[in-house]
Amino acid sequence: MKVLVINCGSSSLKYQIIDMDTQDVLCKGLVERIGIEGSLLTHKVPGHDDVVIKEDMKDHKRAVELVMEALVDPEHGVIKSLDEIDAIGHRVVHGGQKFAKSVLIDDEVKEALNKCTELAPLHNPANILGIQACEAVMPGKPNVGVFDTAFGMGMEPKAFMYALPTKYYEEYEVRRYGFHGQSHDFVSHRALALCGKDPATTKVIVCHLGNGASISASIGGKCVDSSMGLTPLEGLIMGTRSGNVDPGIMQFICHKEGVDIDGMLAILNKKSGIFGLSGGISSDFRDVQKAADEGNEKAKIALDAFRYRVAKYIGSYAAAMNGVDVIVFTAGLGENDKLTRQEICDKYLGYLGVKVDPERNNVRGKEALISSDDSKVQVYLIPTNEELKIAMDTVKIVSEL
Ligand code: ADP
Repeated sequence: MKVLVINCGSSSLKYQIIDMDTQDVLCKGLVERIGIEGSLLTHKVPGHDDVVIKEDMKDHKRAVELVMEALVDPEHGVIKSLDEIDAIGHRVVHGGQKFAKSVLIDDEVKEALNKCTELAPLHNPANILGIQACEAVMPGKPNVGVFDTAFGMGMEPKAFMYALPTKYYEEYEVRRYGFHGQSHDFVSHRALALCGKDPATTKVIVCHLGNGASISASIGGKCVDSSMGLTPLEGLIMGTRSGNVDPGIMQFICHKEGVDIDGMLAILNKKSGIFGLSGGISSDFRDVQKAADEGNEKAKIALDAFRYRVAKYIGSYAAAMNGVDVIVFTAGLGENDKLTRQEICDKYLGYLGVKVDPERNNVRGKEALISSDDSKVQVYLIPTNEELKIAMDTVKIVSEL
């Protein structure tokens, strides 16, 4: 079975074709600048040079048409005809409270997604455009929606409710949702498969540490807690996002600097995190690490604060689950930066009996047990694969049709 995975942004579209019999990625690509002058498509087939197609694309429909042309192109295509695609899996950022799992898309689902737009005004409209474009270009193919928020729907009210007047929850669905759901779901289930413990009761903490960063706690694959909230701003310190701050800071800075609430949110989303803490060096952890190595004090504090916050969440999630069996590091930083993994575990998690073996931790980008044999908690590096998770859900739903 071949699945086309689509991840649409407001001016971009990422795609992959995955052969689900082998889980091989046949090709992947990225369309940039949709609706903006200078749009281009970069198509990648493993073992071949990248193909770059430059053509102005006025909308997502045109982008999908060009992707389809690339997929069946006699030279750089990977399928003979679109008939070979069995189904299309779409990443959808916000499913609100309605979608606790992936779903076959029909008119009713699209209407419900439109209603969730208020909760993710930057993302959901683009996701819906991607779905509509695929329906127009490949009529009759099953389209499946896989939600960033679905995993977090496992949380109980004590974890997802904010201590606000309940009318905001009842009338506007203001609650904690948790994001990066495809990643937390995929990685926690890989951990259950690898750890050799009872998969129904194993307590797992997944640290998804990338430019966007979040942590989840789950028991037997069911989410207990997740660090992101109504929006992906809550929780950890991120590349440019502040994560948790005292909400009172907003009013204080608005008054001091004469910015309005939208301006304040832009500061919290785009100017904060390790970028802000490092004095504007970079939102990329590698640049901040380099500056810290060269003696830059702000860079050192930024990295210390990032790791400290991750460790505090791990501690609080161990409390939330009354224990932890497995801790996993994933995403750009989690998969590649052994120093971050080692320091979080050595400095802060000794009381849980966590012991990371430096030899085992000397690894990047592949599944590995990095804790020592006498560690009370197993610690893993597990690369995330959100596209594969989307394709797996798509196969599951289509095979039930
Ligand atoms: P996102 O998907 O949220 O954009 P990624 O998961 O791709 O983020 O992670 C990107 C981050 O991973 C970058 O900001 C970079 O700092 C970090 N990263 C990638 N490779 C390394 C590395 N070798 N060492 C340290 N950090 C790395």
